[in-house]
Amino acid sequence: MVLTAKPVILRNVIHGVWTVSSAAAYEEVCNPATGEVIAQVPLSTKADVDEAVRSAAEAFGTWRKVAVPRRARYLFRYQQLLIEHGEELAQLITVENGKSLEEARGEVQRGIECVEFAAGAPTLMMGSQLPDIATGVESGMYRYPLGVIAGITPFNFPMMVPCWMFPLAVACGNTFVLKPSERTPLLVNRLAELFKEARFPPGVLNIVHGAHEVVNGLLEHVDVKAVSFVGSQPVAEYVYKTGTANGKRVQALAGAKNHSIVLADADLDNAVRNITSAAFGSAGERCMACAVVAVVEEIADELVARLIEAADAIKIGSGLEADVFLGPVIREANKARAIRYIELGEEEQAELVRDGRLDAAASGSGYFVGPTIFDRVQPGMAIWSDEIFAPVLSIVRVKDLAEAIAVANRSEFANGACLYTDSAKAIREFREEMDAGMLGINLGVPAPMVFFPFSGYKKSFYGDLHANGRDGVEFYTRKKMITARY
Ligand code: NAD
Repeated sequence: MVLTAKPVILRNVIHGVWTVSSAAAYEEVCNPATGEVIAQVPLSTKADVDEAVRSAAEAFGTWRKVAVPRRARYLFRYQQLLIEHGEELAQLITVENGKSLEEARGEVQRGIECVEFAAGAPTLMMGSQLPDIATGVESGMYRYPLGVIAGITPFNFPMMVPCWMFPLAVACGNTFVLKPSERTPLLVNRLAELFKEARFPPGVLNIVHGAHEVVNGLLEHVDVKAVSFVGSQPVAEYVYKTGTANGKRVQALAGAKNHSIVLADADLDNAVRNITSAAFGSAGERCMACAVVAVVEEIADELVARLIEAADAIKIGSGLEADVFLGPVIREANKARAIRYIELGEEEQAELVRDGRLDAAASGSGYFVGPTIFDRVQPGMAIWSDEIFAPVLSIVRVKDLAEAIAVANRSEFANGACLYTDSAKAIREFREEMDAGMLGINLGVPAPMVFFPFSGYKKSFYGDLHANGRDGVEFYTRKKMITARY
């Protein structure tokens, strides 16, 4: 483990060197399972951003000319180091984020897959040609990097979300400035150390820790050509509007309120297992978490009873302990916000059938909220509409699939949605009518693998090109057309 008993004062990574921030203020980073302070993160300034962007712009001059297969070889070395250090990275994720070690190991694996995908750069960067657009005239499309890219990431996937961004961006020949979440900044520093160990040239990846001042510095900087953002809806909207107003390409992935629909012909064992995992895993702090279940009335009593039983069986505690499934939420304020929503659900007269506040009261100094289930929730209630980002599940009872889809489509978010059924006809109707970016059939978290695009619609996404896959390559490159007569 890289952590020591004494809180470490974190530094930025600029031009491959640990650099003391010019920050006037620091924020405490704590282990959410214990409340213990484990580091101090600088709230860096625009001067730090300028320094990082200068380094990235300088590195771009040579990095863009490194042959694409050679760039891929850096990524293969990086991938190998991430595999070798996988267990250490997973432990670090659990310590700073709180999710269970098993979830953290899964996240490390997702991050490594992003590096693997980026290592396909020679194929991904290919253009296209047509030898005869007219007699003796040919035309070709060539793909080039943009320059300096900025990435701004959330706390809930300290490794996977940064890995959606910088490996592919640098594979395409760009250089990168990353501002990780100030609540989970440790893992990214380790990623940067291993990046250096993989012998990437200095300046290809820079890290600037901090909060909104760093974000604003990046959004305003004339040398930042594109911004990849992942985080909450209001910030995503702000980043998208400000970044595009400043002439930058922006993709901003935002919040969610994902619905799962359960029909009478569903395999209930499978539905209960997957909904429990999708609603309460990672303490509900996933953009693909199941937040609402729309269930047909005829099986609603049975489903609710079985979800309560499954929730009762969940082991709550520090993610480092064996068999713990539900760790803490990220901060005391997030716990307080979850509890306020549980109170609000009661005021709104939804039926509280499992109260996670009882587990919260019993669980010591960490920021724990137990699995909470509201039955007979009505669309329009705050617990139905708002992203709570905690282990709080709402059940809406419906008469049929059409009503369930209509309920889900009323949400202002549209990230993911799932359907549990054995009917091909229902699956087709769901696929055609459900207005969300990522759909799942008979599974809990329909997160696409890295070679496919990842994103939602409506208030869950601002931009055009989604993260990952071909969209990611398009986002991090620009095309040049050559037409030639010989
Ligand atoms: P957040 O919006 O609080 O923070 C995200 C980033 O924005 C951080 O780096 C933070 O420092 C910065 N930021 C926060 N407030 C800012 C402000 N006022 N001005 C400028 N920058 C600011 O999000 P979070 O709490 O870290 O992450 C959880 C959110 O992220 C949830 O809403 C979740 O749904 C979303 N998320 C979405 C996806 C997706 O793929 N759609 C994936 C992961 C997380």
